[in-house]
Amino acid sequence: MCGIVGYTGHKNAYPIIIGGLERLEYRGYDSAGIALLNGDLNVYKKKGKVDDLKKSLTHAKLDGNTGIGHTRWATHGEPNDINAHPHYSNNKDLVIVHNGIIENYNAIKQDLINKGYQFESQTDTEVLVSFIEDIQKNTQASLEESVRFALQKVIGAYAIVVMSKNSPQTLIAARKGSPLVIGVGKDEGEYFIASDATPIIEYTNEVIYLDDLEIAVIRDGNLTIKNLDSTIKTPYIHTLEMSLEAIEKGGYPYFMLKEIFEQPKSVTNSLRGRVNADEGTLTLGGLSEYMNRLLTADRIIILGCGTSWHAGLVAEYLFEEYARIPVEVEYASEFRYRNPIIKENDVIIAISQSGETADTLAAIELAKSKGAKIFGVCNVVGASIPRMTDAGVYIHAGPEIGVASTKAFTGQLSVLTMMALMIAHKKGIIAESEFREILTELELIPQKIQKALEVSDKIEKIASKFKDATNFLYLGRGNNFPVALEGALKLKEISYIHAEGYPAAEMKHGPIALIDKEMPVVFIAPQDGIYEKIVSNIQEVKARAGKVIAIVTEGEKNIKEMADYTIEIPATHQMLTPLLSVIPLQLLSYYIAIMRGCDVDKPRNLAKSVTVE
Ligand code: GLU
Repeated sequence: MCGIVGYTGHKNAYPIIIGGLERLEYRGYDSAGIALLNGDLNVYKKKGKVDDLKKSLTHAKLDGNTGIGHTRWATHGEPNDINAHPHYSNNKDLVIVHNGIIENYNAIKQDLINKGYQFESQTDTEVLVSFIEDIQKNTQASLEESVRFALQKVIGAYAIVVMSKNSPQTLIAARKGSPLVIGVGKDEGEYFIASDATPIIEYTNEVIYLDDLEIAVIRDGNLTIKNLDSTIKTPYIHTLEMSLEAIEKGGYPYFMLKEIFEQPKSVTNSLRGRVNADEGTLTLGGLSEYMNRLLTADRIIILGCGTSWHAGLVAEYLFEEYARIPVEVEYASEFRYRNPIIKENDVIIAISQSGETADTLAAIELAKSKGAKIFGVCNVVGASIPRMTDAGVYIHAGPEIGVASTKAFTGQLSVLTMMALMIAHKKGIIAESEFREILTELELIPQKIQKALEVSDKIEKIASKFKDATNFLYLGRGNNFPVALEGALKLKEISYIHAEGYPAAEMKHGPIALIDKEMPVVFIAPQDGIYEKIVSNIQEVKARAGKVIAIVTEGEKNIKEMADYTIEIPATHQMLTPLLSVIPLQLLSYYIAIMRGCDVDKPRNLAKSVTVE
């Protein structure tokens, strides 16, 4: 949440910062702002999207080689011009951009008010920058020291960048709990700062990931990184492998649509080098060191939020069915506050697209403190979760920019399926023939996803029939029950239609009361071991005049006769059906949202990469 950009070097900072904010807009779009240093310290900010800010600046003087920018997802104070970042300190000598929440801001604010400070905004951020100013005044310490002292007193999470009128060519950045990446420019003395690497990649592929409780000081073209206790750290420079093309829309109207259609490729990338059906091998290099812990685990606890939690629920079916290990799937936000029982032989699998999800990070820390071994399943290379886990597997889906997760979900499913299968095989509890059959099917999944995408026109037509619905019910069974949850979530988040996912049999314990001729019910009904059961559930809905849209296996005849609409997916092994059944649900929600005039890449109130708890 919130995108931060900073630049110092010899180029004009404005186009770099505004371009960077456009790339980071998926992280928050309540307001946007920039501050430029050119002798004066000028702040320009505006409620709304980065484009609104840009339009408001057509006549502004936008000079300066050092500057910072921010795109906000509000936590403290409504989205308006005043609460937008950057925020000045009281005497207007300092400016700050901030991602996170300063939990003790109120106490600090009261102290400062007692000293005569005044505040324009309702944000926690404005308090922090004036607190830094106050420390500087009282102690005569340098800007860097004052930032350090202030951060030692602060409770909460932050990624910040501070700039001072009195320190030309200087940026001070720090983080705790929210991400920050520093780009080392190709020009002498040029540095970039951003919440993720997407604003940096067009200028340099050399980056440094700042760690928690580190401060980076860039002054006159030199970078120093220190701990909050002032010890100097030697930065490790990573080489980014991301391409510019991967973070652009590539001719699609929305990132979400691009990412849905990218899935044959992104799933191929998740499987590449790991599955080899010809040789009957499955390798997940990231796990090798801790493989024994997985094989001897008494229990697996899967942690995630949102779509990642749904991927975890699918994995529960797979790990229990194939690897025969008991699994619990927990919302990271609940787990972290409920004093969970974690035993020596438990292992944790933490799932997060961004690798920065605040609640998942905190839940991992808690599990670590209780001695658990932690495995990560993440997309963003080098993010906080992959760096703090003992071992893990990247999903390699490429940058996901649409706020509604699509290709990350299928990437997570691919990796979790491989993990379950690998454990089952290494434990010798899956027959070699079935293992090889699933490997062959896994290799075919990308082309089957491609086939599932080819009926997009039909899905668009179905969407047009239901675009004005006010409620939707999604029903599935077995490993497709979590897919029903995911389908409902996709629809809610981008079209604002109320939708619920349920295990199909649970319908009779409540939701069936909602069914009438106005109620669309999406059934995920592939031909699997519980096919007959779901057919009965479809009958029950039809008996009450509900409108049925069924996701079925190609060639299906029976359900076609009872459902109002059917959407076919290719046949595959039962273990893998979620990888295909979710595709039509993603498209259905996309088309419905577009027909309702929604901005699917920037759904209201949401932001990607939830870095506040
Ligand atoms: N707490 C700050 C604000 O409300 C930053 C919010 C965030 O990072 O999401 O403006």
